[in-house]
Amino acid sequence: MAIEDLYREVIMDHYKRPRNKGANLEANVVIEGVNPLCGDEIKLWLTINNEKTVTAASFEGQGCSISQASVSIMTELIIGKCVENVKTIISSFRAMMLESSEPDEKLLGDGIALEGVRQFPVRIKCAVLSWNTLNLGIDQHATAGDQRVELKHSES
Ligand code: ZN
Repeated sequence: MAIEDLYREVIMDHYKRPRNKGANLEANVVIEGVNPLCGDEIKLWLTINNEKTVTAASFEGQGCSISQASVSIMTELIIGKCVENVKTIISSFRAMMLESSEPDEKLLGDGIALEGVRQFPVRIKCAVLSWNTLNLGIDQHATAGDQRVELKHSES
């Protein structure tokens, strides 16, 4: 099987059987992200504990297969990780998508399947939407202390 076909299968698998889907009322970071160019919408629920570890991450969303697979993959990667590691994963994913850097499979897991999307510049925002939304939520949480964070992010 060609690598492109394998990647396509990974994306379709996450799109059809999304991981970690659903609201989480215990979450202390709730962020919505939209990509007006494609009509993609996501909502992320994160629980970040006092040790700065992401103990829960889930989402709801609608939009193209790339945007929805990307957020499913992302939640799988960040659950159980400390905020510092999550920031490293976000940087690595963004570098792969935006700077064509060689992806690190150890950091990005199934996320490397989205590498091929960078051949289609208009779809890059679909892939990075959830990651930019997550990044904003984590930064806001760092300054909000014990306050619950609720935010909206829009790709433009
Ligand atoms: Zn899209």
